[in-house]
This record gives sequence, structure tokens and C-alpha cells, in this order.
Amino acid sequence: MSIFLLENISKIYKTGSGDFYALKDISLSFSSTGLVSIVGKSGSGKSTLLNILLGIEKPSSGSLKFNGRQINKMSDKSFSKYHLNDVSMVFQHYNIFDDLSAKDNVMLPLLMKGYSKAKAEKNVNNYFEDFSLTYLSNQRSKLLSGGEKQRIAILRAIAISPKVILCDEPTGALDSKNSLAIMEMLKELSKKILVIYVSHNKTLVNQFSDRIITLKDGKIFADKTINESRNNLLNNSKGTYSSKWSTLFTKINLKINIKKNIFSIIACTIGFASILLSFGFKEGSNISQENALKNNLSLLHATASEKTTFEIENSPLNYEKSIRPSLESIDENLENIDVAIEPCLSYLFPTYPFGRYQNVVVENFQMVPLYDISLETYGKQLLVSGSPPKEKIDEVIVNEEFVKLLKKDNLSIIDDLFNISFSTSLKYSTGDFDNPIVKDDFSFDYNLRIAAVVKEFSFLNTPKIYYSYKALKKELDTLYLENISLSLKRPTTIFEYLENVKEDDVISNYCSEIFLTSIDDSSIFFETIKKLKDNNSSFQIESNAYDIQQSYKTFIESFSTALFVFVIIAFIGVNFILGMISLSTFIENKKNSAILTCLGARHRSIQSIYLTENYLLITISVILSIFLSLLSQFILNNIISRNFALNNLISIPFSTFLNVPFGLVIFLFVIAIIFSTVFTLTPMLIYRHISLSDELRDE
Ligand code: ADP
Ligand code: MG
Repeated sequence: MSIFLLENISKIYKTGSGDFYALKDISLSFSSTGLVSIVGKSGSGKSTLLNILLGIEKPSSGSLKFNGRQINKMSDKSFSKYHLNDVSMVFQHYNIFDDLSAKDNVMLPLLMKGYSKAKAEKNVNNYFEDFSLTYLSNQRSKLLSGGEKQRIAILRAIAISPKVILCDEPTGALDSKNSLAIMEMLKELSKKILVIYVSHNKTLVNQFSDRIITLKDGKIFADKTINESRNNLLNNSKGTYSSKWSTLFTKINLKINIKKNIFSIIACTIGFASILLSFGFKEGSNISQENALKNNLSLLHATASEKTTFEIENSPLNYEKSIRPSLESIDENLENIDVAIEPCLSYLFPTYPFGRYQNVVVENFQMVPLYDISLETYGKQLLVSGSPPKEKIDEVIVNEEFVKLLKKDNLSIIDDLFNISFSTSLKYSTGDFDNPIVKDDFSFDYNLRIAAVVKEFSFLNTPKIYYSYKALKKELDTLYLENISLSLKRPTTIFEYLENVKEDDVISNYCSEIFLTSIDDSSIFFETIKKLKDNNSSFQIESNAYDIQQSYKTFIESFSTALFVFVIIAFIGVNFILGMISLSTFIENKKNSAILTCLGARHRSIQSIYLTENYLLITISVILSIFLSLLSQFILNNIISRNFALNNLISIPFSTFLNVPFGLVIFLFVIAIIFSTVFTLTPMLIYRHISLSDELRDE
């Protein structure tokens, strides 16, 4: 029985000018030993015929049997078996792997065949000895000469004990001395197995061939038998496929691509770290928000007013205005919160006065009363220089924004004087027709001593001077209103007058001062303010700190949203990088994949070479990104807390995420693995359908 039986094989290529027959109606049969030469002009179809026998090209019509078995259509698995057990190939340009040692190249198909490393090595050593090539075995293939490479390629082809070796111009790239040596090697082999050999070299063909087949324009032109070959009984040396060999290539790829891999790791690490930091910001901003806002003395002070509707006499119209709320109303609305309620003094002591500092006019700062200027109940930890003032009208605390407004620094400003002066008048309606209005005029002129500087959460913060409400109250309680006292017929101090004025009088400033007596109430206080605003209640509280909190919240929320978009972009970017790495590694190594396929490697093992490399890159990047993000978190938080009095703004939720321990890292890792798998496999699936023969064509 013949080992190869070809019946009416044709191979048609579709070209621009119609069908082109590379092979036409070829019928041939081969015995199982001997050296058969295929000769013919260039383009006559020799390589096409060999490729069909190798299985990497499918005939357009006709039947091809190997050992009685039809092999026109082969699955990945049977293709692999065919090359690991039956047919191997020697190429014109050797196609051995330059980065493996000579011995590893020869061992490779044996490892694929499931041999243990030790057994494969023992077999391979014998082959090297048989052909007196032991001196080459440990050399790196890159360093071998052409003749030596081809000898290694032949050893690799025979290592699996094939039944047929197909050689496409194996001596085409060699000098005559090397060619002769190779032919002798093939001749030796052809005593036991079939060697089919394509050549241009007439001398060699005539010297060594047992049979010469001449092709012309895709047809058999001549078929001459020189020595009758005998048919051997075919021994079966079947192995079980193993994919262990692929780690050899993963290692090589990692080594060859070292620069590219380092850059990819850097890019991915930065990408992953940005993602972690963004999550950290989202988490940290929520936690730090509350703490940050506590770094603000004005938190302790607010004003309350009551919106009230007044009817106009003899008119269907009415009007609305804010008045000073009654104590009952305040009690009712702030029932669970410890507050001190005091008359509003801003009519006399303006919130936004002009000031003078070293004879220069200063504007755009705010005067805020504090109930406890000694900072005993709250605020000592905010001090950055000086010490809390005494309860005196002309001793004040300023914030850092104010220091900046004066272009000074925290230390040198202490004990400096800041002058505010203003005049005002209080009027009293007597109801007397002749003399309806009584008036008292005052002017105030204070040189405020700056006793301390506080560091506050700086977001949207304005320059502020904190003064003692109690000291001002005491002061105003010692100043008598001359004209108004006469009219009221009793001695009246300014404070008394303000305290007892009608709630909708202009000098009441339509509100009450509210002082939180405990910082611990600030959260409920803010909640209450929010509730009142949301319900559109007529009782209203104005708090500078609350407004800042709301703006900060909105700011953080929109920033988080923007950051989320950024995270998505970073995520796509990182995964795109991973995809590109897979793709480029694969494209660079397309030819190697084709060679491996011809040696009998299964598709999945080839994929695993690239996947393993990528998984390794991802793992390293994820681990590095944990360190990088922790370091960045530390540095950024330090800078932020120094400049904005905002602690731990970034706090990456490493320990738990969505209630999963280490969830964030796991999540990143899993998504990256999925993406990289998809990105790696897609190009490979596409390339799977690209012809192996095109990839292996020797230029
Ligand atoms: P040889 O090895 O004898 O030099 P080949 O078998 O490589 O010749 O090619 C036979 C003919 O088929 C040539 O004319 C070549 O141009 C053509 N051919 C080979 N491969 C293809 C292809 N993929 N598409 C179109 N034509 C091809
Ligand atoms: Mg050819």
C-alpha cells in the first residue's frame, strides 16, 4: 500500500484574470521509503504540491489519502496529530527558533508529543550523537551557521520519528559542501522513511534521488523511477499531546519583549493607579467632607429669621418680610440643639465694614461674632499662631484668608492693630405729632488687636475677623442713648434698646443671632437647616458654614462625576494598551505561530503563550498600581491637608469594596483579564483563517 495516494488533485487560485491552476489533475502514489525529488521551473507548482501533502493548503478538487486515510479536511486536533506522528517539514530557510538552544528546538516537538523533559532530552541527545552534532546541542540557534541550522531543522523533523519528511528546497540557501552533507543526511533517512524533496539543483537530484517527478505548469511532465523503493511496515509512535512546551515560549517572549513589556507595565500601572485614586477620591471626599467643614469657626454662628406676611390696611394686598423670630419659634424649630440666642447687633456693628491696616483701606472681609472667643468649647485645634484673646471688644481672631488679604504671614501679624471705624444713628418714633422722631448718633472707632490666627477649611472661605459677641454686648450695655432715654423717660442703653425693639423694626436687622454651644450638634444643626430650606419653612436660618458645605458637596459631586468619566476613559485606555500589546506581540510572532502549528502545536497552546504573557503583565501592573496609588494618596493628601485644611481627601477603599474584601483590586484585575483575553483571542481567531502557507512562504 502506498503511503500517499493523490487522485486528480487540482489547486485553483482565484486571480484578477480568472482562475489559475497551480496544480492540475495530479495523480501520484508514493511508497513508504526512498528519496523522491520534485523538480520543475519556478512557478510550476512544486511548493503547492508539498503544502497540500503537509496539509497547510487544501486542494480545490481531488482526493488525498495518507496511509489509506482521507486527509482533505482536518480538525485542529487531527492536524496536530498528523504533524506530531506522521509528517514533518524541513523548510528552505530552516524556521528554527533563534532564541531557543539547538537542543530545545529539537526537543520541542517531543514535548508537544507529551514526552517528559528528561525523556525528550535523552532521545534528542541520541539524535545529536547519531549525526555527530553533539557539539551544537547547547548553542543558541541564533549563533549557528546556515548549514548548522538546517541540520538542526532536520533533527527537529526526525525527532518525532515521522513517516514522511517533506523538504522544500532544503539546500537552496546553502553552499555546495553543506548541501552535500544535508543530502547525505536525507539519503540516510530515506532508507527507513519517505523523504520528498523539492530542488533546483540537478547534480544533487541526479546523485541522490530514487525517483524524480518533474512538474510543468501544474501538471506532471515526467515521473522517472531510478531505484525501486520498498514499502516499509509502518510503526506507530503515537503520543498524547501536551501543552507544557508553551512555557518555553512565554519565557522567551518576556525576554525578547522586555522593553515593550516594561513600558506597558508602566502605562498600565499608571492607568490602574489613576483608577484606584479616583475611587479613593470618591470615597474620601465623602468622609473628609464632614471633618473638613468642622475646620471652620463660623460653623458656630448663624442667624435666624421668620418670614411673615403683613396685611395692608384697607387693601386686598399684603406683603411679606423677614422679622426677628420669637423665642418660642426658635425653640420649636431647634428643639434638639443647644444654642444661645441673642439679639442681632449687625445694625450697629456691620458685618462688612471698611477697615484700615497701616493706613491702607481694606475691604472684602467679614466680621463674625463668636460666643466663646476663648475657643474653650471649640476651635483651639485650629490655632496656627498667637493665643486665644480675652473677652474684650478690641481683641480678635482672624483666619488665614484674612492674613493673606493683608499680605502678611501667620506669625508676623500677631499683635498688629487693625482699625475699624464707623458711625451710625438710632431712631425712635415717639408717636408725637410735633416731634415724631428722636435720634441718637454714635461713632465707633476700634483698634482691633489681632491675637490669633486660625487655619480653616479654605474652600470658598472668605477673610474673616472673629470678635467676641459677649464683649460687644457688654460694651453696648454701657453706652446710654441720651435723646431716646429722655423720650422714653428712663435711662436706656443701646443694648437694652436693641433687645426690646419691635421684631420688624429696621434696627432689629430682622433676625436673631444663634450660637451653637457644642460642636457636636453641628451635624443635626445642618440637617435642620436643610430640612427648613427643603420645606420652604417661614423660619429660616442663614449659616455661612452651611452654604459652604452645600457648595462643597455640589462641587465634589460634580467633580466625582467628571472623575467617573475619567475612570472609564482610563479603564478603556489601559485595556486598549493591553489589547495593543497582545495584538502586536501576536503579529510580530505570526510566523512563529505558523511554524509551531506545522510542528503540531494546537491552537489553544499557541494562544496560551500570549495570554500567559498578558496575564503576567496585568498581575504585575495591578500589584505595582497598589503601591503607586498608596504612595500618591499619601503625597496628595499631605499637599491637600497642608493647603486646604482638608484631611484624607483621598482614601482608596482597598479593604472592602461593594462589601467584598479587596473588591476593588479584584474587580480591576478581573476586568483587565477579561479585556485582555478578548483582545488577545480576537486577532488570533481572525488570523487563524489566514493561510499558513502564505505565512510560511520562503521569500
Ligand atoms: P514553485 O514552488 O514551483 O515555484 P508554487 O507552487 O509556489 O511554485 O506556485 C505555483 C503557482 O501558483 C505560481 O505561479 C504562483 O504564483 C501561484 N500561487 C502560489 N500561491 C498562490 C496564491 N496564494 N495565490 C495566487 N497564486 C498563487
Ligand atoms: Mg517553491
